[in-house]
Amino acid sequence: MFEIHSPLPAVDPSRVEKALRLLHRSLGPSKIITSKDGCEPFARDESEAVGRTPDAVVLASTPKDVVLTLDCARRAGVPVTPRCAGTGRTGGAVPLRGGIVLSTLGMGDIKEINHHDRVAVVQPGVILEQFHDAVEREGLFYPPDPNSRASCGLGGNIAENAGGPRAVKYGVTRDYVLGVEMAAMTGPLIRMGRRTVKGVVGYDMTGLFVGSEGTLGVVTEATLALLHKPDMVLTLLAIFPTPHEAGRAVAAIFRSRICPRCVELMDAGALQAVRAQGVGIDPLAGALLLIEVDGEGPACERDMERTGEACVAVGALDVLVAQAGTQSARLWAARRELSPAVRKLAKYKLAEDVVVPVSQIPALLEKTEALAERYKVRILTYGHAGDGNMHVNFLWDDPADLPRVLGAIENLFRDVIALRGTISGEHGIGVLKAPYLGLEQSHELVSLQERVKKVFDPKGLLNPGKIFPLRV
Ligand SMILES: Cc1cc2nc3c(=O)[nH]c(=O)nc-3n(C[C@H](O)[C@H](O)[C@H](O)COP(=O)(O)OP(=O)(O)OC[C@H]3O[C@@H](n4cnc5c(N)ncnc54)[C@H](O)[C@@H]3O)c2cc1C
Repeated sequence: MFEIHSPLPAVDPSRVEKALRLLHRSLGPSKIITSKDGCEPFARDESEAVGRTPDAVVLASTPKDVVLTLDCARRAGVPVTPRCAGTGRTGGAVPLRGGIVLSTLGMGDIKEINHHDRVAVVQPGVILEQFHDAVEREGLFYPPDPNSRASCGLGGNIAENAGGPRAVKYGVTRDYVLGVEMAAMTGPLIRMGRRTVKGVVGYDMTGLFVGSEGTLGVVTEATLALLHKPDMVLTLLAIFPTPHEAGRAVAAIFRSRICPRCVELMDAGALQAVRAQGVGIDPLAGALLLIEVDGEGPACERDMERTGEACVAVGALDVLVAQAGTQSARLWAARRELSPAVRKLAKYKLAEDVVVPVSQIPALLEKTEALAERYKVRILTYGHAGDGNMHVNFLWDDPADLPRVLGAIENLFRDVIALRGTISGEHGIGVLKAPYLGLEQSHELVSLQERVKKVFDPKGLLNPGKIFPLRV
């Protein structure tokens, strides 16, 4: 572990004492953890963000628990950090000053799956993979699929507007959230949105809420849109001598009027991590595209053929159709495990999730090579190339190299913005990217968002320090 930012001052002990007294009175002791050992795991998520051990963790099991917890926090003047499964990559669920962590993972009911309306009503603690399985058993389909789907929760997905490999064809979480019930610091539960495809009444508050990273309110229920499950899914593996041909192939596939549902790119370094997981990949491969097409049988097979042809036309060494079931499942398992596998390649890792227009992927790959050279840091890249969302991983072993790595990261962000991209495609700003917000957004836009935050949370107690740098 290394310290990428300094810890913030702890909450005033007299306020903590008051908050604990109020929490015990409102919720009873069974839903509150206060022991150091019990609270410690809630100081971290799956990022390098440095938090303080919370003073209390509330294990909410009903919307009322959430409302009462926010009320206690407000009355005591103590910060509260919403949390679901803690798989976030930018420190969103990390309590920077301690205070209360409000876990919604225990609110795990799928309340309804409705065929006729093609909607589901869920609580925030439902694990995404369990939700996928439940809707697919009914012949329905919920496309958002972050690679953490076996462990992340729908509340966290909504708060982060999570994406994933299938976003290229189906979009991201926001495209499926029709309505939300949430608790804000200002009082009772608020329902926003709708249950229908259409609905234009008032501002699109649901759209604003999705992706707000737990800074505006706490999701207690959501109404999600569903599609019909595609008849057929085919997986293709295209190998290339270098990432540049693979990058060019992405644009070539779309030029041939195919929209695969996933196009995942791995460069040579990422392939090394995949091979280390025991997946045999042609030793000539310097890059790979893992592609999925879906749809009705004949159309799906035609799309697969045309995708393969587009890859060969720009220099693929080989294109293989994964045999259904085991081979495809193994490839996807290796892809989903890539992040922890890459972590094993060096002592320290920082991973960015930048996005560029698809046509600029080759340019992005050139820029990352130039950064590796200039800053003498190891960089490997993989990600959801179909929508231009690339995970650029910085690896190093000597703690003294951190300033150089941070220099390379800032320049990566500048390059991405110059290529007309964005500094985060799906992991959010959290605490780790907060210092860079101003690189992409104007002062006016940032301060407008800060004013919106103030309306929902006048005292700045809900997840402070996220998105906007904390000034204490
Ligand atoms: C191996 C790995 C692969 C990943 N792959 C992807 C990927 O492909 N695509 C992608 O988008 N992400 C990916 N992620 C990141 C992460 O899984 C997502 O951001 C996910 O949506 C977080 O969900 P969570 O339940 O773990 O949320 P947490 O980490 O608990 O919280 C995330 C944010 O949501 C807020 N929050 C949590 N619950 C609530 C609630 N009930 N109400 C309001 N706010 C709340 C928190 O305050 C925090 O800001 C990956 C992570 C890992 C470790």
